[in-house]
Amino acid sequence: MKTRLGIVGGGPAGMMAAIQAAGILGDGSRVVLFDKNERLGRKIYLTGKGRCNLTNRRGWEEFSLHIHPNQRFLQQAFRAFSNEDLIRFFEEELGIQTVTLQGQRVFPASLVAGDVARALESKVRELGVDIRYKTRIGSLADLADFEAVIVATGGRSYPVTGSTGDGYALAAEAGHSITPTFPSETALLPRAYDRGLCGLILKNVGVQLYVDGTCVQTDEGEFSFTEDGLESGAAYRLSRRAVWALTNGQRVDIAVDLKPALSNAQLEARIARESPAGHHTRLDRTFLRSFLPEALVAPFLRANPGLTVDHLPAALKAWVFRIEDYKGFDRAVVTAGGVSLKEIVPKTMASRLRPGLYFCGEVLDLDGDTGGYNLQIAFSTGALAGANAAAYLLSL
Ligand SMILES: Cc1cc2nc3c(=O)[nH]c(=O)nc-3n(C[C@H](O)[C@H](O)[C@H](O)COP(=O)(O)OP(=O)(O)OC[C@H]3O[C@@H](n4cnc5c(N)ncnc54)[C@H](O)[C@@H]3O)c2cc1C
Repeated sequence: MKTRLGIVGGGPAGMMAAIQAAGILGDGSRVVLFDKNERLGRKIYLTGKGRCNLTNRRGWEEFSLHIHPNQRFLQQAFRAFSNEDLIRFFEEELGIQTVTLQGQRVFPASLVAGDVARALESKVRELGVDIRYKTRIGSLADLADFEAVIVATGGRSYPVTGSTGDGYALAAEAGHSITPTFPSETALLPRAYDRGLCGLILKNVGVQLYVDGTCVQTDEGEFSFTEDGLESGAAYRLSRRAVWALTNGQRVDIAVDLKPALSNAQLEARIARESPAGHHTRLDRTFLRSFLPEALVAPFLRANPGLTVDHLPAALKAWVFRIEDYKGFDRAVVTAGGVSLKEIVPKTMASRLRPGLYFCGEVLDLDGDTGGYNLQIAFSTGALAGANAAAYLLSL
């Protein structure tokens, strides 16, 4: 009887694990891939606003700054299957050409996320992997016939895609500890949110995150106001610490610097030069339009009633939003927390507690910023888990 590998979850991590394992075993039928859904990689279809930001081209030193909470854990998986390896794999093995856009973000050249999901699923099929659709694995005991098992069930975010946190129970069954999970890369809701801001996108702003009055993180880039609150690039990057602080009952404020390119002194000088009247004059809309996008003028004045010229520099450098809530797992891009890294071997993704058990992807206590980092985590750890699980089977 041939030894077999069971993979729970056919997202990017599970599919990559299946591809690597089937390749090494030279017999795809020894790999059985289970997924709850009627097709694989359902979440991929939603990624990158339907365009799928596959990875990020930055070198490890910069790339690693976007990985939480333990960059070093990912380093070996990244070395074994890097962002450049991933691009080569997509272009040469899957026939998906890629394009690198702003911020070193890599997408399929078609800008269609479905192309990525379908190409991966086709490769898994082509290798003869035994795919069991619409099959939920509820316990490791369901896989008692398998000599090796990979848990690739994803986290808890966007549960409609099938990622409902099942992997934590599977890991706990084998004695693994789970670092508490919380939503990350998610919308932050300000107190008394001015809905007049909804729809506005600020392209180059500075942001500072304050927890209990202390600045703990600074960033810059895009910041948007949506129905759900503060979102996109810079706001998402702050959301991990902000959500964690809120869940611990701490006070959270975000200060937005609308003029990051100017120092306080430069801004004061410019305002003094352009100021039509005395310093204590209440500001009018026409004057503000030379400092702010048109759509921002009214909400800015509502947030700063009675603002005078001498207070304008401070108000432009720090528009403060007290954050009181956030969007939960239903809408969060990624799950922070998960299967504790202490009990996983970073070189192989093997459990330190149970021989033949492996973990990969978002189920691990590993997450990245938006920008292609989360899919690279899934692909790098998936490739390593698949290769090592196959080597384990061959060693039996
Ligand atoms: C809206 C959105 C946009 C995103 N955009 C990007 C982006 O552009 N770039 C980027 O890098 N990251 C992005 N991400 C994050 C990225 O999609 C995830 O980090 C990544 O999909 C995780 O891969 P995974 O294989 O670990 O888990 P998942 O993709 O969550 O896949 C897990 C699979 O396991 C299956 N499963 C779960 N439990 C069981 C069970 N008990 N039995 C059988 N099957 C089970 C599920 O059905 C699912 O198919 C985005 C996420 C969201 C929600």
